[in-house]
Amino acid sequence: MHPLQACVEKLGEDRSGDQMYQLIERLFPICRSITGNGLRQSLDIVGEHLPLLRSEVATGTPVFDWTIPKEWNIRDAWIKDPSGQKIVDFQQSNLHVVSYSVPVHGRFSLAELKTRLHSDPAHPEWIPYRTSYYQETWGFCLPHQQLQSLPEGEYEVCIDSELTAGSLSYAECLIPGASQDEVLLFAHICHPSLCNDNLSGVALLVELGKYLRQCQLKWSYRLVFAPATIGSITWLSRNEKLLPQIRGGLIVSVAGDAGPVTYKRSRRGNAQIDRASACMLAERGQQERVLDFSPWGYDERQFCSPGINLPMGRFTRSPNGAYPEYHSSADNLGLVRPEHLQDSLHTVLDILHVMESDTRYQNLFPKGEPQLGRRGLYQMMGGFTNIGELQHALLWVLNYSDGEHSLLDIAEKSHMPYRLLQQAAGLSADAQLLAPLP
Ligand code: ZN
Repeated sequence: MHPLQACVEKLGEDRSGDQMYQLIERLFPICRSITGNGLRQSLDIVGEHLPLLRSEVATGTPVFDWTIPKEWNIRDAWIKDPSGQKIVDFQQSNLHVVSYSVPVHGRFSLAELKTRLHSDPAHPEWIPYRTSYYQETWGFCLPHQQLQSLPEGEYEVCIDSELTAGSLSYAECLIPGASQDEVLLFAHICHPSLCNDNLSGVALLVELGKYLRQCQLKWSYRLVFAPATIGSITWLSRNEKLLPQIRGGLIVSVAGDAGPVTYKRSRRGNAQIDRASACMLAERGQQERVLDFSPWGYDERQFCSPGINLPMGRFTRSPNGAYPEYHSSADNLGLVRPEHLQDSLHTVLDILHVMESDTRYQNLFPKGEPQLGRRGLYQMMGGFTNIGELQHALLWVLNYSDGEHSLLDIAEKSHMPYRLLQQAAGLSADAQLLAPLP
């Protein structure tokens, strides 16, 4: 049995979904941003599960067309109403402060304060998530219904934060396989208390890494945990020499909601990872959930920029921005469920299984059909419940194993399950009808 196949089968019985959910619960309260101690603390926790190579890149360092920004840290923030009562409190939710807010302490009229307040009228009970990384400003986010109920008067405002020369942090875990060629998996880890967008991808990669480390792998796997945009740009700018070794990869986030799995193709459109993912989604009857590339979304914007153009697709459940709770306080522990996380992990392992195992074979008896009965293949099939299917799979595999077509090619042509074709190829190879090609 192929090693990753064994992983997938174990997954059916184990508690991966619960473990991913528990990790999300632990990471949820931390105030992360694209730099700072919350990001480091989160990477520390990931490092309890996987061996990590950590990097710190100093403020001011040029990375492609960008520059590493100042480091942001925050201790506290609040707004007190005219009666002196704290009505907005960072300690209650870190979403209340616009990420990267400069420090402030002062008194403001309601009209002045309102220019600094952000809310979402479409969802009046939720706190929206807002950032201002590259323009120094400050602000608060609060539910729209609260904003509308604020009385006239003088408000006292405090943001106890600092923007200083520091560094940007990221981490990676390399899991070596037989080949130095790599599959690259990326999760952004820069959002504060948001579960589906951010933490579900981190938890999935952690659990995936734990599985991969138990397997004998053909490819090496590199799991990168970094801030979105500036983090992937930084990683790419420091690893250009490595890029030719990357055979494929996935950007993973939004992996825990109830929406169906969505795969967004790489810019190349027909890379092996695109075909493997499309094949696995088709087997689930979800071929309509395969989207073409567009230069919008998550870090595919960097990994698939024209000068990089890696064969990397994006794995999510609901696409980013396409669920109402996106970037709000409703993207919380109630939105993600262990069973959806487990299903996402299972699907990613299925896709990687194809990447690991896709093989071309040579039919050693290509003139006419080989006589299967004489070689015991008909009798062998007696043990299977899906006799007809396996017989079909044998005929497809024997016909197209001309040295040109791989199992994935044959799966695309036949619309038969990849693993059934793999099983048929294994039986044919055992009967010395097929020889695997390097
Ligand atoms: Zn986001």
